[in-house]
Amino acid sequence: MLIKISPHLKQLAKESPAIRKQFYATDLEAKDVTQLPDLLLEEAHTKVKGLVHKYDNRVLILLTLQCASYCRFCTRRRTVSQVASGVITKQDLFNMKTYILQNSQIKEIILSGGDPFTVVPLLKEALTIFSRIPQIKWEPEFRYQIQKELIASSYKL
Ligand code: SF4
Repeated sequence: MLIKISPHLKQLAKESPAIRKQFYATDLEAKDVTQLPDLLLEEAHTKVKGLVHKYDNRVLILLTLQCASYCRFCTRRRTVSQVASGVITKQDLFNMKTYILQNSQIKEIILSGGDPFTVVPLLKEALTIFSRIPQIKWEPEFRYQIQKELIASSYKL
Protein backbone atom coordinates (compact mmCIF):
# COMPACT_ATOMS: atom_id res chain seq x y z
CA MET A 1 0.00 0.00 0.00
CA LEU A 2 1.34 3.42 -0.96
CA ILE A 3 1.80 5.82 1.92
CA LYS A 4 2.05 9.60 1.65
CA ILE A 5 1.56 11.97 4.57
CA SER A 6 2.09 15.72 4.44
CA PRO A 7 4.42 17.32 7.03
CA HIS A 8 1.45 19.19 8.52
CA LEU A 9 -0.50 15.97 9.04
CA LYS A 10 2.53 14.23 10.49
CA GLN A 11 2.71 16.96 13.05
CA LEU A 12 -1.00 16.71 13.88
CA ALA A 13 -0.83 12.91 14.04
CA LYS A 14 1.64 13.13 16.91
CA GLU A 15 -1.19 14.44 19.07
CA SER A 16 -4.20 12.73 17.52
CA PRO A 17 -4.82 8.96 17.35
CA ALA A 18 -7.75 9.63 14.99
CA ILE A 19 -5.50 11.37 12.45
CA ARG A 20 -2.89 8.63 12.78
CA LYS A 21 -5.56 6.06 12.01
CA GLN A 22 -6.77 7.97 8.98
CA PHE A 23 -3.38 8.19 7.27
CA TYR A 24 -0.90 5.67 8.74
CA ALA A 25 -1.15 2.14 7.39
CA THR A 26 -1.06 -0.83 9.74
CA ASP A 27 1.98 -3.13 9.38
CA LEU A 28 -0.17 -5.58 7.43
CA GLU A 29 -1.44 -2.89 5.05
CA ALA A 30 2.04 -1.46 4.54
CA LYS A 31 3.32 -4.85 3.33
CA ASP A 32 0.37 -5.42 1.03
CA VAL A 33 1.26 -4.81 -2.62
CA THR A 34 -1.98 -6.21 -4.02
CA GLN A 35 -3.55 -4.07 -6.72
CA LEU A 36 -6.86 -2.93 -5.25
CA PRO A 37 -9.91 -3.55 -7.45
CA ASP A 38 -12.15 -0.79 -8.80
CA LEU A 39 -14.68 -1.26 -5.99
CA LEU A 40 -17.14 1.34 -7.28
CA LEU A 41 -16.92 0.26 -10.94
CA GLU A 42 -15.88 3.76 -11.94
CA GLU A 43 -13.77 2.59 -14.87
CA ALA A 44 -16.73 0.78 -16.43
CA HIS A 45 -18.78 3.98 -16.14
CA THR A 46 -16.17 6.39 -17.52
CA LYS A 47 -17.75 8.01 -20.57
CA VAL A 48 -15.07 10.54 -21.51
CA LYS A 49 -11.67 10.97 -19.92
CA GLY A 50 -12.12 12.02 -16.27
CA LEU A 51 -15.93 11.80 -16.26
CA VAL A 52 -17.77 8.95 -14.51
CA HIS A 53 -21.50 8.64 -15.20
CA LYS A 54 -22.97 5.96 -12.98
CA TYR A 55 -26.18 7.49 -11.66
CA ASP A 56 -28.60 9.10 -14.12
CA ASN A 57 -28.76 12.59 -12.65
CA ARG A 58 -25.13 13.22 -11.71
CA VAL A 59 -21.59 12.87 -12.92
CA LEU A 60 -18.35 12.52 -11.02
CA ILE A 61 -15.38 14.39 -12.44
CA LEU A 62 -11.86 13.41 -11.49
CA LEU A 63 -9.88 16.60 -12.00
CA THR A 64 -6.58 15.08 -10.90
CA LEU A 65 -5.16 11.91 -9.39
CA GLN A 66 -2.89 13.92 -7.11
CA CYS A 67 -3.35 14.09 -3.33
CA ALA A 68 -1.32 15.80 -0.61
CA SER A 69 -1.71 12.69 1.54
CA TYR A 70 -3.24 9.26 0.97
CA CYS A 71 -6.21 8.30 3.14
CA ARG A 72 -6.41 4.69 4.31
CA PHE A 73 -10.08 4.47 3.41
CA CYS A 74 -9.66 5.75 -0.15
CA THR A 75 -11.74 3.86 -2.72
CA ARG A 76 -9.43 5.14 -5.50
CA ARG A 77 -6.18 4.15 -3.88
CA ARG A 78 -5.37 2.06 -6.96
CA THR A 79 -5.13 5.25 -9.04
CA VAL A 80 -4.36 8.26 -6.85
CA SER A 81 -0.60 7.90 -7.18
CA GLN A 82 -0.74 7.75 -11.01
CA VAL A 83 -0.68 11.51 -11.37
CA ALA A 84 0.53 11.60 -15.00
CA SER A 85 -2.27 9.38 -16.30
CA GLY A 86 -4.90 11.53 -14.58
CA VAL A 87 -3.86 14.89 -16.00
CA ILE A 88 -6.93 16.71 -17.32
CA THR A 89 -6.61 19.38 -20.00
CA LYS A 90 -8.89 22.24 -20.97
CA GLN A 91 -9.93 20.18 -24.03
CA ASP A 92 -10.91 17.34 -21.67
CA LEU A 93 -13.11 19.80 -19.76
CA PHE A 94 -14.83 20.82 -23.01
CA ASN A 95 -15.32 17.14 -23.93
CA MET A 96 -16.99 16.64 -20.54
CA LYS A 97 -19.20 19.67 -21.12
CA THR A 98 -20.28 18.28 -24.51
CA TYR A 99 -21.16 14.93 -22.91
CA ILE A 100 -23.20 16.64 -20.18
CA LEU A 101 -25.06 18.79 -22.73
CA GLN A 102 -25.92 15.61 -24.69
CA ASN A 103 -27.35 14.01 -21.53
CA SER A 104 -29.97 16.42 -20.23
CA GLN A 105 -30.87 14.17 -17.27
CA ILE A 106 -27.59 15.22 -15.62
CA LYS A 107 -28.32 17.91 -13.06
CA GLU A 108 -25.37 17.63 -10.71
CA ILE A 109 -21.59 17.67 -11.10
CA ILE A 110 -19.31 16.39 -8.35
CA LEU A 111 -15.71 17.55 -8.63
CA SER A 112 -13.31 15.10 -7.07
CA GLY A 113 -10.02 13.32 -7.71
CA GLY A 114 -7.48 13.01 -6.17
CA ASP A 115 -7.74 16.34 -4.50
CA PRO A 116 -9.07 19.15 -6.77
CA PHE A 117 -7.48 21.72 -4.47
CA THR A 118 -4.05 20.58 -5.64
CA VAL A 119 -4.89 21.86 -9.16
CA VAL A 120 -6.50 25.20 -8.40
CA PRO A 121 -6.05 26.81 -11.88
CA LEU A 122 -7.76 23.79 -13.49
CA LEU A 123 -10.45 23.85 -10.81
CA LYS A 124 -11.20 27.47 -11.68
CA GLU A 125 -11.36 26.58 -15.40
CA ALA A 126 -13.75 23.73 -14.62
CA LEU A 127 -16.00 25.95 -12.51
CA THR A 128 -16.11 28.55 -15.30
CA ILE A 129 -16.85 26.01 -18.06
CA PHE A 130 -19.39 23.97 -16.11
CA SER A 131 -21.20 26.99 -14.67
CA ARG A 132 -22.31 27.77 -18.25
CA ILE A 133 -24.20 24.49 -18.64
CA PRO A 134 -27.88 25.49 -18.43
CA GLN A 135 -29.22 22.20 -17.02
CA ILE A 136 -26.91 22.37 -13.97
CA LYS A 137 -28.34 24.17 -10.97
CA TRP A 138 -25.54 26.44 -9.80
CA GLU A 139 -25.38 25.89 -6.05
CA PRO A 140 -21.74 25.13 -5.21
CA GLU A 141 -21.35 23.05 -2.10
CA PHE A 142 -18.06 22.07 -0.49
CA ARG A 143 -17.90 18.55 0.94
CA TYR A 144 -14.36 19.02 1.99
CA GLN A 145 -14.36 19.57 5.70
CA ILE A 146 -11.67 17.20 6.91
CA GLN A 147 -9.11 17.69 4.17
CA LYS A 148 -9.60 21.44 4.14
CA GLU A 149 -8.90 21.68 7.84
CA LEU A 150 -6.06 19.21 7.95
CA ILE A 151 -4.24 19.53 4.68
CA ALA A 152 -5.17 22.56 2.68
CA SER A 153 -4.27 25.25 5.16
CA SER A 154 -1.41 26.28 2.88
CA TYR A 155 -3.47 26.29 -0.34
CA LYS A 156 -4.98 29.53 -1.55
CA LEU A 157 -8.14 29.59 -3.65
S1 SF4 B 1 -8.66 10.72 -3.38
FE1 SF4 B 1 -9.53 11.62 -1.53
S2 SF4 B 1 -9.86 9.87 -0.15
FE2 SF4 B 1 -8.42 9.21 -1.76
S3 SF4 B 1 -6.37 9.56 -0.92
FE3 SF4 B 1 -6.93 11.39 -2.12
S4 SF4 B 1 -7.85 12.79 -0.62
FE4 SF4 B 1 -7.83 10.73 0.32
